[in-house]
Amino acid sequence: MDWLSIIATFIIGSCVGSFLNVLIYRLPMEESIWSPRSHCLHCNKTIPWYRNIPLVSFFIQNGKCAECDASISWQYPLVEIINGCVWAVCFYIFIPLQAGLTAMFSSVLITLAWIDYKTMMIPLSLIITGICIIVISVFANLLVWQMVFWGAFAGVLIPLAMMGLTYLFTRRQGMGWGDIQLGLIIGAWLGPWFMMIALFLAALFGILAWISISIINGFDRNRPLPFAPYLVVSTMALLFCESWVVLWFDKFLLL
Ligand SMILES: [Zn+2]
Repeated sequence: MDWLSIIATFIIGSCVGSFLNVLIYRLPMEESIWSPRSHCLHCNKTIPWYRNIPLVSFFIQNGKCAECDASISWQYPLVEIINGCVWAVCFYIFIPLQAGLTAMFSSVLITLAWIDYKTMMIPLSLIITGICIIVISVFANLLVWQMVFWGAFAGVLIPLAMMGLTYLFTRRQGMGWGDIQLGLIIGAWLGPWFMMIALFLAALFGILAWISISIINGFDRNRPLPFAPYLVVSTMALLFCESWVVLWFDKFLLL
C-alpha cells in the first residue's frame, strides 16, 4: 500500500473518530446521536461544518471554541488520532473487506472503552453493533463460526469465573455485567486461544495500573477499576501483532 492510501485511510478513520466522539458524549446520556447537530458544550452554538473538520479545526482554533473561547477537551482530537491510526493500520495489514470490518469493530471497541472509562458503564447498543459486525464477518467467510462460538463461550465463562472468585474472596462485585457482554463480542472476534491471552494481558495491565494509581494517589480498596479499556487495548495489540507476524512470514519466509 502506498503512502497516499495510508493517509487517505487515516483521514477517513479520523472522520469516523469524530462521530465516535459524538457517541461517547451522547450515548451515556441517552441523547439522540443524529440531532441536534454538533454544538459547543459551553455556549451551545451550532458548529458549522467548516469549523468541524477532524483534527484540523481543533489545532487551527488552538483547542478553543471559535464563538466563546471555551477550551475544547483533548478527548476530541485524541479519539480522532487513535481511530485514524487504527483504520490506517487495518487497511495496511488486511485485504479491503476484512480491513473495513476489522476497522469498524475496532471503532466500536474504542467507543466502548472510552465510555466505560468515563462512566463505568457499557451501552448495550454498542454490544449489539459489535454482534452485527461479527455476523456479517461470518457470512463473508472472514470468521469461522466454530471459533466464534468457542471464543464467545470463553469470553463469557472466564470473566464470570473471575467475577465469582473476586466475590468469594472480597465480597465485592469486581466486574460488571457490561464486562461479560464485552467478553462475549471480543471472544467471538478473537477465538478462544487469543481471548485467553487477551484476558490475561488485560488483568495484568489493570492490576499494574491499579497499583500505580494507588502509589500516586494513596491506597483505597474501594477504588473502582474499569476493565474494558485494558481488555480493548490488549485485544487491538493482539489483532495487529498477529497480523504483523503473518505479514513478516509472508514477506521473508515464503517468497
Ligand atoms: Zn462555545
